[in-house]
Amino acid sequence: MEIEELEGVGKAIAEKLKEAGYSSIEAIATASIGQLKDVGLGDAVATKIINSARDSLKMGFESGLDFLEKRKQVGKLTTGSKELDKLFGGGIETQAITELFGKFGSGKTQIAHQLAVNVQLPKDKGGLNGNAIYIDTENTFRPERIQQMAEAAGLDPKKVLKNIQVARAYNSDHQMLLAEKASEIAGQNSVKLVVIDSLTAHFRAEYTGRGTLADRQQKLNRHMHVLQRKIADLHNAVVLVTNQVMANPTIMFGDPTSPIGGNIVGHHSTFRVYLRKSKGNKRIAHLIDSPSLPESECVFEVTTGGIIDA
Ligand code: ADP
Ligand code: MG
Repeated sequence: MEIEELEGVGKAIAEKLKEAGYSSIEAIATASIGQLKDVGLGDAVATKIINSARDSLKMGFESGLDFLEKRKQVGKLTTGSKELDKLFGGGIETQAITELFGKFGSGKTQIAHQLAVNVQLPKDKGGLNGNAIYIDTENTFRPERIQQMAEAAGLDPKKVLKNIQVARAYNSDHQMLLAEKASEIAGQNSVKLVVIDSLTAHFRAEYTGRGTLADRQQKLNRHMHVLQRKIADLHNAVVLVTNQVMANPTIMFGDPTSPIGGNIVGHHSTFRVYLRKSKGNKRIAHLIDSPSLPESECVFEVTTGGIIDA
């Protein structure tokens, strides 16, 4: 359904909305009246449009029983390390956004590559018997690395590469567009994993200075809504996003870094894991936030064959 089909949206209003980045029904349904007023719409019109977008998406309540049924469909994807899987409660869940954050070299991209391989494994081997989409914003996707990991997992490297759709995102708008595209492709190709590596790099680079922070957060908010609703929920898929850290001068003790994107990214990520380097190839993963798991830590290792227990 196009936004022009919504009640109260004519050609002129559709143009205005699209220009401001509200190009899908979901984006409008999840906007606030204030946000649409900023686009130049009146109170009544904004309310009407948002309501009709919400109606058309059947947004609202569902019974606890329906919810339980949906939860039963949740799949768990192995990372290759039993300890790391345990940290996630048995693997990385579908229907959720999992965020890996950490400094350069902490292993975020390595785990993303590994999942793109493992998602193709059969379910009894910890996979989801599905394909992967990899949105690369930092030009760090390496097919050679996938080949190494595929071989170690006993899979045909060529087949594995064929089942990963890779796109390079050139800026944050392009990245958001690719997420929409990913949702379409996922519908046709039994995609069970969508990676965004990195979620925040473009946003961080493009929106500098205090005045633009609100705009950045608003856009990130819309982006993450698409990831959750149109990918994780709609296709019962794993969404894995990586995030950098920045120095946080207000922290006096402990690790003086915090993830980019602040509240917005934190709020939308169902699982947040902080990665840091340890001795040699070892890495430490720290589960910071999860709806039903305790905060905990584990150690894993990055090897030529991929992610394994330390
Ligand atoms: P980031 O968190 O910045 O995405 P990466 O996931 O790219 O970090 O991790 C890079 C690290 O992964 C390298 O410093 C190296 O230690 C390790 N690594 C990369 N390739 C291999 C490999 N083939 N064998 C062993 N370790 C590797
Ligand atoms: Mg990386």
